[in-house]
Amino acid sequence: MEQPAIRLSLEGIGHDYGNGTVLRDVSLDLREGEVTCLLGPSGCGKSTLLRIAAGVERQTRGIVKVDGRRVAGDGVYIPPEKRDIGLVFQDFALFPHLRIEENVAFGARGGASERRQRALALLERVGLGSHAGRYPHQLSGGEQQRVALARALAPRPPILLMDEPFSGLDHRLRDDIRDQTLEILKEEGTAVMLVTHEPEEAMRMADQIALMRSGRIVQVGGPYNIYNAPVDKEAAMFFSDINVIHGVVKDFQTDTPFGQFLTPGLADKADVEIIIRPQHLKMDFDRNGRGPLPTAQDGVPARGRVVRARFIGNQSIVELVMDHDGSQLKATIPGVFLPKVGTPLWLSLRRDRCFVFPCRQQRVLDTPYFA
Ligand code: ADP
Ligand code: MG
Repeated sequence: MEQPAIRLSLEGIGHDYGNGTVLRDVSLDLREGEVTCLLGPSGCGKSTLLRIAAGVERQTRGIVKVDGRRVAGDGVYIPPEKRDIGLVFQDFALFPHLRIEENVAFGARGGASERRQRALALLERVGLGSHAGRYPHQLSGGEQQRVALARALAPRPPILLMDEPFSGLDHRLRDDIRDQTLEILKEEGTAVMLVTHEPEEAMRMADQIALMRSGRIVQVGGPYNIYNAPVDKEAAMFFSDINVIHGVVKDFQTDTPFGQFLTPGLADKADVEIIIRPQHLKMDFDRNGRGPLPTAQDGVPARGRVVRARFIGNQSIVELVMDHDGSQLKATIPGVFLPKVGTPLWLSLRRDRCFVFPCRQQRVLDTPYFA
């Protein structure tokens, strides 16, 4: 299948502020009709990268291209207003003296009636059709943010860069606005960069996630891949709580109380960490000191005792202290499961959901191993 056209590319971007380097060799393409989420913890350089793409900031190293044409780097610099790029920032600014409808029509193209129609249609889409005649100060913060979104979309920009645009909205509203925004962006074939520090938002919105850490992109992939094949422990941890089980390699295998894991490519005596998300631990009741029989799928069960169990609405979280080494593991299960403190339970690990990484200091290869 043919890939959609590349609208914006960042090539080897590096950036220094007076106090140090904040971006290192970042390369990324935005494609027509696709949402790329820049995801990472606060301070990792997301906003700086977005500002460089927009032209609000001039990068120290590397090249920015729009539709294959250089717009920044190597002595070239095209200012933001000439890049045909839409922007939505966290601290959006509406024109206070213009009605909502006029704020949105401001950026739209065509004659007055065409622009008005476009503005009203977009306001309808973001759920503010009935507020078109109001002034910005007559709207709540969340409503103003939706107006800012409509205004950015009004000129149908082929590229739209958004920096945490949904962060000011309350929870339930946010899901609706995200879905509506996605629908409009897909309809119009916009190439989108969406900055967020929330993994759920990235999973929900992105065709492609670029996971950032300390000024670098550490992994790029679709939501499924990035969740199910993280490049390292930190990447796994960014998306959910994790459990870590330690082991030592012997003859290309690692023995654990949960059975043997294949660890090819790792030297004897290397320390490894087996990572598993809480929803991929299986819990079974104790039957006269025995658990379920070992299987190829789930390995060997190990026993622990409940130290805490909580119900959080759609699932229960059970924490156990393990008999074999006193370590604590956390398992989640859909629905209500609230065993008493002290209850013995057997845990097994779903083999196909474990990630095995060498411990950082003794890393041999850069790819994860799947047991
Ligand atoms: P993020 O958006 O991921 O939270 P930023 O791109 O805003 O991160 O910031 C990355 C790093 O650059 C941070 O350490 C921040 O303090 C620093 N930084 C951002 N803007 C400036 C600036 N104008 N001058 C100096 N340092 C800055
Ligand atoms: Mg930021």
